[in-house]
Amino acid sequence: MRDFLNTPIELLNSITEKKANILKKEINVSTFGDMLEHFPFRYIDKSKFTKIKDIANEDTYIQVIGRVIKKDIVKGKGQRLIITIKDDTATIDLVFFQGLKWINESFAIGIDYVIFGKPTIFNGIFNFAHPEFETLLAHRHTSIETFFPIYNTTERMKNAFLSSKNLAKYTQEILSLAVNRIEENLPEYITKHYNLFTRERALREIHFPKNDQTLAKAKIRLKFEELFFMQLENQVKKHINRSKNKGFIFSIVGENFTNFYKNHLPFTLTNAQQRVVKEIRNDMRTGSQMNRLLQGDVGSGKTLVGLLCMLIAIDNGFQASIIAPTEILAQQHFNSIKNFLKNMPINVCLLTGSSKQKDRKILLSALSEGEIHILVGTHAILENNVVFKNLGLAIIDEQHRFGVEQRSKMWSKNHIPPHILVMTATPIPRTLAMSVYGDLDCSVIDELPKGRKPIKTLHLFDRDILTLFNFIRKQIDIGRQIYVVYPLIKESEKMDLKDLMDGYESIVREFPLPKYQISIVHGQMKAEDKDYEMQRFKEGITNIMVATTVIEVGVDVPNATVMIIENAERFGLAQLHQLRGRVGRGQEQSYCILRTKDDISQEGLFRINTMCSTNNGFEIAQADLQLRGPGNIAGTQQSGVLDLKIADIVQDELMMTQTKELAVQIISHDPLLNARENKPLRDYLASKHKTADFSQIS
Ligand code: ADP
Ligand code: MG
Repeated sequence: MRDFLNTPIELLNSITEKKANILKKEINVSTFGDMLEHFPFRYIDKSKFTKIKDIANEDTYIQVIGRVIKKDIVKGKGQRLIITIKDDTATIDLVFFQGLKWINESFAIGIDYVIFGKPTIFNGIFNFAHPEFETLLAHRHTSIETFFPIYNTTERMKNAFLSSKNLAKYTQEILSLAVNRIEENLPEYITKHYNLFTRERALREIHFPKNDQTLAKAKIRLKFEELFFMQLENQVKKHINRSKNKGFIFSIVGENFTNFYKNHLPFTLTNAQQRVVKEIRNDMRTGSQMNRLLQGDVGSGKTLVGLLCMLIAIDNGFQASIIAPTEILAQQHFNSIKNFLKNMPINVCLLTGSSKQKDRKILLSALSEGEIHILVGTHAILENNVVFKNLGLAIIDEQHRFGVEQRSKMWSKNHIPPHILVMTATPIPRTLAMSVYGDLDCSVIDELPKGRKPIKTLHLFDRDILTLFNFIRKQIDIGRQIYVVYPLIKESEKMDLKDLMDGYESIVREFPLPKYQISIVHGQMKAEDKDYEMQRFKEGITNIMVATTVIEVGVDVPNATVMIIENAERFGLAQLHQLRGRVGRGQEQSYCILRTKDDISQEGLFRINTMCSTNNGFEIAQADLQLRGPGNIAGTQQSGVLDLKIADIVQDELMMTQTKELAVQIISHDPLLNARENKPLRDYLASKHKTADFSQIS
């Protein structure tokens, strides 16, 4: 009984091996269950027909009834079959390029057909290219329900007669075999409480709904199921991590932490920083391994929180490590941590891809001897030959640049996995955090250090160049530094580089030596030249840094107060926010100037306006998610959200919260789902992961 949905699709009479292969390749359907979960993306009302005269638009599927009045095979470069049909208002051509013989034989002059497809315009006239068709008689025969499902198909599928209509036919066949054979995966106490359709009913109604209401209920049930199991799996993983992975117990807050806190901390922590340090500290002394996400807006002081946590690890006799996605960032963390700890007996070292072989050898042996307390670095730290004596805490900065594998690589750096703290570069919307990082605990810094003046953001057009130059001049006169950023996108790299160089030249002309010093940094430069220019800017030697987005993440030059973004309409919101975060790091008033051409798209303007109206990274992240959907948001690639078949984390936010709460509640009472009433959940998770032992999931 359990296996019905796992039946290979080719066991369906009409599915040949060739078709099965194409289904697998094109839409990843290989079983009955997969086919039933290939949901329609829309429906047509089979009782509605469009009159040929009323066809007005290219993009929607419609149904037309017409009588065949002419059939024509046109010879030319490739052969074409043209079938002309007529209703009581007008005529229209159906055009076919393939399977001509068979299609030609399927149409008979004088017979009425139902044509289904998207009209296209050719030479100013509507026609149908490769529409689906059947005789009116057959249509009346087969239309039981009013709504008819429309499925996504591909060109290859259509060529193999796997049209939307045929998919509907196969689905219908499977459903007729499925009576009482689709196992329920939600316990009754859930379906009852939330008033949900059974799984079988939902799968029937989603494909062939009786009416609007049953369709709506089918959708709710299937979305609920999808989100709930995603959340349940997260909770199971979290529970397994906690119970399986014993963690080091950092029981003391020791000398180094206290000494640093009392004597060397150059400012007071924000309330949010204090709260978060406490959360992390508590988490590191429970006896379970910590897996925690630290979210905070750009400039909220995540690095310092990380440093305090590393001191706790050191005070408890462990080593700590922080990895960053780029050399520039690693170097910067290294410098600032060294600077924070300059009067303390703590050994901080840096390991990156460009560390010299000789130094690396010394470093690695010091590391395994336990002489290094804090190792800062890049991916280089993940390599197997980097062995710690006793790594207790691993911090991963700017997580979106790293994958899940990297996280787990750090796990294996000690016999008991070290505590893991993941820091994000930009805030993520709540729902996304719930799914992407659902198996992590989360701490949020929701406050910026005191005394920071909110960055003023304004939109200037290209023609406002003189205003801009005057503003730059004034800021330089009072000692400030300026970033000017250009987009550089692979597809238009040459043009972009030219823009950058043109921009650089016009700035150099306007701000000439010796009074002004200008730096330039872009991806095509050698690493050492980049570093040299960055260094000059950091030290305040150069006034203006003209750059591509290589400076996007993490760069910290508090004296820089103006961020000018050229062609700002070409950047995404997250990127704009990151770039803006490069200024506003000191006490001075900072500015972000978004420059665009005069006419920009609606969406571009929406982004610019969003940036001008808020400095809050969480709000920006939410707007970004709404604008682009989860697929384009950094970090989602490895998460399940992109595999969601029917739920949508933007539209279904409420259900997301509901299902999460339910999952948390269930796992807190019955962590291994042993209770009798939870058996369906357990069975379903096990079958989904093709394992009998569901505690293997993770
Ligand atoms: P992010 O969260 O973007 O990584 P950083 O850790 O780079 O932010 O911190 C931004 C700047 O704010 C750094 O120069 C840091 O030294 C400073 N900073 C951090 N915490 C505080 C604080 N409580 N008060 C004042 N400045 C702080
Ligand atoms: Mg940072």
